[in-house]
Amino acid sequence: MRNLLDFDFDSAHIWHPYTSMTHSLPVFGVHSAKGCELELVDGRKLVDGTSSWWACVHGYGHPEIISAMEKQLHQLSHVMFGGITHAPAITLCKKLIAMTCEPLTKVFLCDSGSIAVEVAIKMALQYWQGQEKPQKQRILTVKKGYHGDTFAAMSVCDPEGGMHTMFGEAVTKQCFADAPKTLFGEALHPDDLAQMRGILSTQHNEIAAVIIEPIMQGAGGMRFYSPEYLLGLRKLCDEFNVLLILDEIATGFGRTGKLFAYEHADITPDILCLGKALTGGYISLAATLCTDKVAQGISQSPAGVFMHGPTFMGNPLACSAACASLDIINRNKWRSQVAAIEQQMRLELRDAIAIPSVKDVRVLGAVGVLEMVAPVDTALLQQQFVDLGVWVRPFANLIYIMPPYIITPMQLSQLTAAMKQVAARIPLAGDIAPTQATTSFISHG
Ligand code: PMP
Repeated sequence: MRNLLDFDFDSAHIWHPYTSMTHSLPVFGVHSAKGCELELVDGRKLVDGTSSWWACVHGYGHPEIISAMEKQLHQLSHVMFGGITHAPAITLCKKLIAMTCEPLTKVFLCDSGSIAVEVAIKMALQYWQGQEKPQKQRILTVKKGYHGDTFAAMSVCDPEGGMHTMFGEAVTKQCFADAPKTLFGEALHPDDLAQMRGILSTQHNEIAAVIIEPIMQGAGGMRFYSPEYLLGLRKLCDEFNVLLILDEIATGFGRTGKLFAYEHADITPDILCLGKALTGGYISLAATLCTDKVAQGISQSPAGVFMHGPTFMGNPLACSAACASLDIINRNKWRSQVAAIEQQMRLELRDAIAIPSVKDVRVLGAVGVLEMVAPVDTALLQQQFVDLGVWVRPFANLIYIMPPYIITPMQLSQLTAAMKQVAARIPLAGDIAPTQATTSFISHG
């Protein structure tokens, strides 16, 4: 059946995320997808536990998104955004401004999550130039974060698990505090923000902004931390005159049980990055929002304009998909869907803690995580999951699911049962030799 697709060509010529062109890893050919299921070229159907890297929150083949995109495709699939505007971009930005917190009033539409982070960092740097503080150029963040694979984004990823050492001096040296220690639901450890305060009090003259993933550190370890930490961080940013950038690329649009994760802490950022679920995962699009204050500051910078403008900025087809996706989100069904997923995962995953290879079990919103005592063999486990009829892609020492919100209880049970079954087969730490897929640097794959 494998000859249905030219897998040999694929492995000889096509790069997949975080792979080698000389030692290829197995890939599965997907023919189509519907609802929560991927259909392989050999006809097997897999329940999707990943929402295609956390983006396809409404599932696949959603008629509303398809019809919006079809209509847009015939009318205007792309046009340059320099000197031109169009209805899909205006409608989308109105929706984004209405859905996000009040101070965010300006929207920059870009291509992907990593670029949204680049844009956010450039905004912060230009803002301070406009305030005649051009020395404020460094970014402060926490360890175990992940913000993307482009250079500025890499510079704020976890310095130990990220790609800093690999690319050496080419990656800007930023400031890092320890990852938040206080977990979601715990009372704030008294010293949790002490290091942040220390760095800010001595280096605030050089620091343009703090960037952090609110509440959930995703690809850096699937850790859920305390809203009180986030609130404390917002206060520190105000105290030391530093901007706060929230990266909601993974958490935005309901994933943690709130529309945006910053709502857990009841705070507002100066700059907000969105991506992934923005289009329901149908096409690449991201957005960086900022406040009036930030926009004014940028206009006062020597350039007088914000220095970014990608070719596909504001792509009408992508904007039409995002408008349809946000209409679905705005009907609010996701609230009960995510709450039900959370409740079911809590019930069905809690006994996984008895499995010897499992170190921790945690659930927040529509995110269910088994942290293992040792890194897992991604390729081996992926095959085992496929054999069990599900699509789950572990990384590092994490077996996790972030399913589409429309998943049925039966499909979710299939996922949680498979997670436990696969975890139970894993020998204890030290007994396995990690493959290439389990290299230690961060990769959300
Ligand atoms: N920020 C966060 C929090 C992410 O989870 C990711 C992707 N996993 C990114 C940024 C980068 O997004 P993209 O892969 O679309 O460039």
